[in-house]
Amino acid sequence: MRKPAPAKLDTPLLDVELMSLFPEIFDSFLRTSLVGKAIENGIVRVACTNPRDFASGRHRQVDDASYGGGPGMVLRPEPLAAAIESVESARGRTHRIILSPAGRLFDQALAQDLACRGRLMLICGRYEGVDERISDLFADEVISIGDYVLAGGEVAATVIVEAVSRLVPGVLGCGDSAIDESFSEGRLEYPQWTRPPEFRGMTVPEVLLSGNHAQVATWRRLESLRRTQARRPDLLLRYPPSEDEQSLLSGVPRKRRKKTAQQR
Ligand code: SAH
Repeated sequence: MRKPAPAKLDTPLLDVELMSLFPEIFDSFLRTSLVGKAIENGIVRVACTNPRDFASGRHRQVDDASYGGGPGMVLRPEPLAAAIESVESARGRTHRIILSPAGRLFDQALAQDLACRGRLMLICGRYEGVDERISDLFADEVISIGDYVLAGGEVAATVIVEAVSRLVPGVLGCGDSAIDESFSEGRLEYPQWTRPPEFRGMTVPEVLLSGNHAQVATWRRLESLRRTQARRPDLLLRYPPSEDEQSLLSGVPRKRRKKTAQQR
């Protein structure tokens, strides 16, 4: 039997205002899979505003040359300011984010923080970027999705919308799946397998077929630690291994601590 569709919420738990000169980039993204469903169910709401609609003049010019010289164009402040103010006067204040490679690095902890904000505005730059006065006047945060340069903020905005949406209650089907995945505690997730049990001569680790939940849990913790150590040693420096993890890694079971006087 098909499950009944969840009731549509009147007030979304996550309300995103996208600000972009190329809103069509978001079309299929917002209609598909997890984000598409969350929007359909009313848990997430996304609106898109084009600053070009707020530009004046016959050509509705949104960019201009950079003061001081150099190649490329910079987004002018007036259309963006007018667009931000128009959206907020119609629908209320947002947590305003400018997307820029010169911003704070986006990570899972920041996604968690944004998931609690309720209303977000993601301001997408293009060309050489956005006039600095937009940042000075409006930005609550400047965020980069990684140490590389994209052609525009739209793809960065989709990364943030997707990462944040899946943390909003009700968006993921299985309530637990956001809990023990990569980065949730400064560790990469353990490897996973599905059917068939043998593929091109390669089998699945025996312990996972054992049905012994405690052994599976210990094995997964160890694999997650090993993988983090091999691929992301920086995470182990930032989140040092606990005593339990150290003994897991060394393969020596942790000694029982002597009972304290109180426990005796
Ligand atoms: N001249 C700028 C790069 C501009 S790229 C510089 O060197 O810093 C054009 C736009 O793409 C930016 O305004 C920003 O909105 C977006 N963008 C590019 N790389 C990004 C990244 N790593 N994270 C977030 N946004 C990015």
